[in-house]
Amino acid sequence: MAEVLHKKPPAPKEAFRHTDVLQGEFWRHVPAYREIDETTFLDHLWQQKHSVKTADELLRTIEGLATPEFIADARTAFERAPMAVRVSPYAISLIDWTDPYNDPIRTQFIPLASKLLPDHPRLTLDSLHEQDDAPVPGLVHRYVDKALFLPLNTCPVYCRFCTRSYAIGPDTENVDKVGLAKTPAMWNDAFQYITERPELEDIVISGGDTYQLPPKSIALIGNALLDIPHVRRMRFATKGPAIMPMKILTHPEWLDAITEIVDRGRKLGKEVVLHTHFNAPEEITWVTERAMRLLFERGIFVRNQSVLIRGTNDSKQRMQLLVKRLGHMNVHAYYVYMHDMVKGVEELRTTIQTATEIEKFVRGSTAGFNTPTFVCDAPGGGGKRDVHSYDFYDRENGIAVYSAPSVKPGKAFVYFDPIDKLSADAQARWVIPEMQDEMIRAAIKKAGIENEELVLA
Ligand SMILES: *Cc1c(COP(=O)(O)O)cnc(C)c1O
Ligand code: SF4
Repeated sequence: MAEVLHKKPPAPKEAFRHTDVLQGEFWRHVPAYREIDETTFLDHLWQQKHSVKTADELLRTIEGLATPEFIADARTAFERAPMAVRVSPYAISLIDWTDPYNDPIRTQFIPLASKLLPDHPRLTLDSLHEQDDAPVPGLVHRYVDKALFLPLNTCPVYCRFCTRSYAIGPDTENVDKVGLAKTPAMWNDAFQYITERPELEDIVISGGDTYQLPPKSIALIGNALLDIPHVRRMRFATKGPAIMPMKILTHPEWLDAITEIVDRGRKLGKEVVLHTHFNAPEEITWVTERAMRLLFERGIFVRNQSVLIRGTNDSKQRMQLLVKRLGHMNVHAYYVYMHDMVKGVEELRTTIQTATEIEKFVRGSTAGFNTPTFVCDAPGGGGKRDVHSYDFYDRENGIAVYSAPSVKPGKAFVYFDPIDKLSADAQARWVIPEMQDEMIRAAIKKAGIENEELVLA
């Protein structure tokens, strides 16, 4: 063979990190799972049954791994949290228990009182105002041609940062949840509404989490929507692959139900896909790779939507690694969301500045179609905006102003950076209520948008 000239030096070892995922029986380092064999650990029913729901269960599971201080810290935070707690054994076994305070997976699911920060003064519980755009319970019709259907309010895990903490999970000490359409009888109102709106081409089936829907409900919902002639696209949304990938391997009835809807859709010329929610590169193991391979073989296309979370994926290198790992499994990195302005999780948010810097770094690392768009779901119901597309960004005071001409024309939407990330001077200004209004009004004015009542209300 002739010698070929390499103009580039060989890729360094780090360039292959994304292919190097966790192997073996990684769960056995957790005392409660020491005796658990592979068949048991991969059983989705075992995973569900052994998911941790209280501080006491957590304590029993990780006994000897974490310090008493850590447990006490978590216990206090559990009592104050707006979300109920549920963590799968898969996720627990991926936490680095030698340093749980800084662990990217612990950060998402297990609150610690010592880390909590005061909420931003402009924060409300349903920051996206989904209830304002809900014509019937459990259906959000915000954009012209697409709607969000919320047929249940349970998930295989509860994420601390959940946008829908106003509705998802059982009531907590701090929040009485509003009703979604939780029964098949209630779903009919949503189907009727969609049938009566010919502009609705695209339905997101979320929740809650469609992992929790029994196979017969997947079939019922999927077929009812496929039967509506103008519905062209559907997405089943689930966090499942990120925190319990084994269900795809060991719950054949669920996977078959999804597969049948995807196949029937394809014959009708309609796209049915899965949307999932990986946040940390460590969530991807050999189990995930096997599960994603099975979906790929069945022709089920998967897209990913991450949330930008401080301490989980808010660095250039970690986001790049996550994106490359997703692409390697044929999962398209679709969106990275700014963390919504949600109660009780201020320490997880970061700034618009950070998001724009990470995006700049990630773009160019891999195929363009595997590169996520970084979006800010504008508080107040403006919908998703490319983070870079602000009309004005007051970096000093942490105020980004967006407009959404095709969603809510003429209105200003404002996202606020977390206060602890601002300069000392800016932090002092946020303490004074009159200053807050003044800073916001000035930013909207600089953005050149007329109305300001909306955000100041
Ligand atoms: C995110 C969202 C959608 C889907 O938006 P895409 O940008 O197409 O992914 C639809 N409806 C609502 C209310 C949403 O929040
Ligand atoms: S899985 Fe999704 S809906 Fe459920 S708690 Fe997490 S973010 Fe919220």
